[in-house]
Amino acid sequence: MAVPKKKTSKSKKNMRRSHLALDTNACVECPNCGELVRPHHVCEA
Ligand SMILES: [Zn+2]
Repeated sequence: MAVPKKKTSKSKKNMRRSHLALDTNACVECPNCGELVRPHHVCEA
């Protein structure tokens, strides 16, 4: 099995993960109930 030759540094790991954070403001107004919901998700109500 292939094994990485070098340990991924904290710097490289964090650089890779810099795009993973969810945008907490990523909300749209639901056409059904008018509440702010995540885009492309069905609301509970
Ligand atoms: Zn809704």
